[in-house]
Amino acid sequence: MGAKIRVLPPAMVDKIAAGEIIERPASVVKELIENSLDAGSSAIRVEIEEGGKKRITVMDDGEGMTREDALLAMERYATSKVYEEEDLDAIQTLGFRGEALPSIAAVSRLRLITRTRDELSGTQILVEGGHVKRVEEIGSPPGTRVEIADLFYNLPARRKFLRGVRSESAHIIEVVTRMALIQGPVGFVLKHNNRILFNLPPTQDERSRIKAILGKDVASQLLRVEGLEGGGEVWGWATVPTYGRGSSKGIYIYVNGRYIRDKIVSHAIAEAYRRFIPAKMYPAIVLFLSLPFSDVDINVHPAKREVRFRRGDEIHRLVSDSLKRVLGHPTETKPHDEAVAVSETRSSYVAPPVVTSGEDRTLAPAWRMVGQLRGTYIMVEGEEGVMLFDQHAAQERILYEGLKAALEGMRLPQQPFLIPQPIEVKREEMELLLEHRASLAAVGVELGEFGERTVAVTSIPAFLQGVDLQSLLEALSGELAERGEGDSLAHVLDRACVLMACRGSIKANRRLQEEEVHALLRGWAEAGKPATCPHGRPIFVKWSWGEVAGWFRRD
Ligand code: ADP
Ligand code: MG
Repeated sequence: MGAKIRVLPPAMVDKIAAGEIIERPASVVKELIENSLDAGSSAIRVEIEEGGKKRITVMDDGEGMTREDALLAMERYATSKVYEEEDLDAIQTLGFRGEALPSIAAVSRLRLITRTRDELSGTQILVEGGHVKRVEEIGSPPGTRVEIADLFYNLPARRKFLRGVRSESAHIIEVVTRMALIQGPVGFVLKHNNRILFNLPPTQDERSRIKAILGKDVASQLLRVEGLEGGGEVWGWATVPTYGRGSSKGIYIYVNGRYIRDKIVSHAIAEAYRRFIPAKMYPAIVLFLSLPFSDVDINVHPAKREVRFRRGDEIHRLVSDSLKRVLGHPTETKPHDEAVAVSETRSSYVAPPVVTSGEDRTLAPAWRMVGQLRGTYIMVEGEEGVMLFDQHAAQERILYEGLKAALEGMRLPQQPFLIPQPIEVKREEMELLLEHRASLAAVGVELGEFGERTVAVTSIPAFLQGVDLQSLLEALSGELAERGEGDSLAHVLDRACVLMACRGSIKANRRLQEEEVHALLRGWAEAGKPATCPHGRPIFVKWSWGEVAGWFRRD
């Protein structure tokens, strides 16, 4: 019998490896930009056609390669970045595995044109499916140009899994964004089907690169973050507590110059923002961590997207403490210090007007209501300064927190109907509402079946008293219908809570009695003095007396 085990031929090995590193056109863009950066380029140009599925070209003005090196670069495990085993412990470059070029070449038609500064002419290499087809001398500017056509042409199964042009180009934009955010001094151009998507001039100013990429709305709301702990250092930018966006896509984390995704760091960020931003809302953050090489292992994932920290808890503390400092977390005080804390707190927020005894119906003595402006804003003054509250946003947040508590098992004040209210709805709405009857009951909306297309509402949360039931049910079933695949029910219920909170809140242009104002501010304090409503809008603004005096130059 012949041997049943055989060593795979190199071409197959490359195809298999390519499967790990090269998932889609964006992976090619990432690897090629990394190479350009490692080559010390100061300008990188990326051009793609059809979301990169047809062609990807990356051009740089870096150090280039000699003919000999260029040929070697096409070989597996050929790299100029690590020579000895010890080098692996102190990797300064983005690449080091020597796998990218051969992997890409194995699954595409590749053209490489490169020239070093010392040579008069360059080298062109054509590779198809991993086989070198042609090597020749060619005139070219110093630097390197890599052109990838027909990615996965010889891996039909993989090619079939590529998404539409829009989706693939979105991935590429994301990859370029991640690199460009941390590489201010390098100019980037990204073109799709001849349309310029990015044109980022080189800059030494981190913030101006962030502004160019994430927009001036975000850039104008950034706070500087800095911190040191153990051997680690963190710096970067994070949005103010009143800013919130619906996805975590605005969070960019880098470790030793490399973009990563990491649970520990994400958790630390969430913890720092938790008291300001409602669940499912996120800040925008660009954060750089510099850690001793010995504390982080980047060689975990072939695409180098994940890292392993040796001292995860220190990293967690470093990130969350640094953020908490700039976000102005109120100084934490022990319970028995509370009385003192009211007058001495240095936090930027109002002293806690939490009132537990039923008789005291005023704000904490430190704050006095001045009035209501335009039937919409509430003004209070105190030792520390002046605050303006948006009454709708504040109440929305309070109700939302109440609903969330209800989801976690707390009982909400209910308004049961003596006679169940029959409400006619659409067929599909009916299905959805009845299917999720138990969950809706958890947030206080109790329903029964009444007729073929009619539900009977038996109870709603008391704060919703007087709302139009028909439109409430429509909106709730709308949320349920929009539930995407993989969208947990908890997520849907959370959105339903946001919606009900909004419906139930005092609208603008309603005069409030002083009593109502106090109740509102108490509720706000009890909810932990959040800074934003569930949609991420600010609840209040505050000016210290110092600022006010400054306006009038009364120092
Ligand atoms: P790695 O980046 O892990 O070393 P690659 O396969 O990506 O492996 O690249 C192999 C080698 O080719 C690199 O080590 C580098 O010497 C050379 N190289 C690749 N791209 C460029 C470029 N744009 N400019 C100069 N040299 C390059
Ligand atoms: Mg590389």
